Amino acid sequence: FPGLIRKRKMVTGMFLIFIACTIFIIFSIFNEIKINNGISDIITQFFISYAVINLFTMWLSLYLIEAMIERKKLKEEMNRSEKMRIIGELAASVAHEIRNPLTVVHGFMQLLGSDKIQESKKEEYLQIMMAELNRAQSIITDYLSLAKSEIGTREQVNMEQLIQQIVTIVSPLALLNGVEIRCSISMTELPYLHTDPEKIKQCLINIMKNGIEAMTNGGILQVNVHKRSDDFIIDIIDTGIGMTSEEIKQLGMPFYSTKEKGTGLGTMVCYSIIRGLNGKIEVTSQKGKGTCFSIIIPAC
Ligand code: ADP
Ligand code: MG
Repeated sequence: FPGLIRKRKMVTGMFLIFIACTIFIIFSIFNEIKINNGISDIITQFFISYAVINLFTMWLSLYLIEAMIERKKLKEEMNRSEKMRIIGELAASVAHEIRNPLTVVHGFMQLLGSDKIQESKKEEYLQIMMAELNRAQSIITDYLSLAKSEIGTREQVNMEQLIQQIVTIVSPLALLNGVEIRCSISMTELPYLHTDPEKIKQCLINIMKNGIEAMTNGGILQVNVHKRSDDFIIDIIDTGIGMTSEEIKQLGMPFYSTKEKGTGLGTMVCYSIIRGLNGKIEVTSQKGKGTCFSIIIPAC
């Protein structure tokens, strides 16, 4: 039955209910004749209404169920094509973003190839080329991690240990910017979270790096882990340059970056990972004062 086309399903359903009604009416007529030696008008009317109501109800039910199934299929189809559209657009913009550094490198290589170039300039040009190639590499790395942001295997992760690992990873950058990292875990139970450790690590590194990069003149990066009812919350608070509400709205948009060497893909990857974990990211910020990123993940 589910394999039939809509029209056939309707016909089959109507045919089945017609047979059921006919059998019921035939038996009832025999019974009536046996008991009352005939059929009264009121009983005939009852049989007619019975058949009509049954047939109509069957038709309406089939129609509504089929319409609902069709709508669901259409929605799934739309979601899929929307996803493909976004991936396609993103791939186009990644290609565009990578072309810029390549053009710069191409130009400088041509310059290096000419005889008139001064020896002293060569080192400077090479450094610019290196920086541009690094930028292209970061864009590719971030784009690939976005493509792979689906959640993999989940396991019980000790968040205290995980955060310590991340602090070790980002501490050279913190040292460079004169930033002190402070962690506080305030929970009555052990800080275990059932999640994908690699993804959550990637997300926390991106947000902590942004926090550190926002404090060019040093400051404090505070990481707080706590639980609120059934949610696991990780707050990452910096005392950096902060953002206006307009800037907060742009977060998570591909290639939105205010940094000279930024890729503008870091927060996008974070949003996609946390969405995959059924969680959310809340951002509060004050221009010139600092920013708080709250990652909220359902604990179970
Ligand atoms: P990138 O770091 O490569 O610029 P991101 O997606 O990580 O890209 O961040 C996008 C932009 O969001 C940054 O360029 C910056 O302007 C802003 N931003 C993110 N985090 C912070 C923060 N903690 N404080 C101030 N601005 C931030
Ligand atoms: Mg970043």
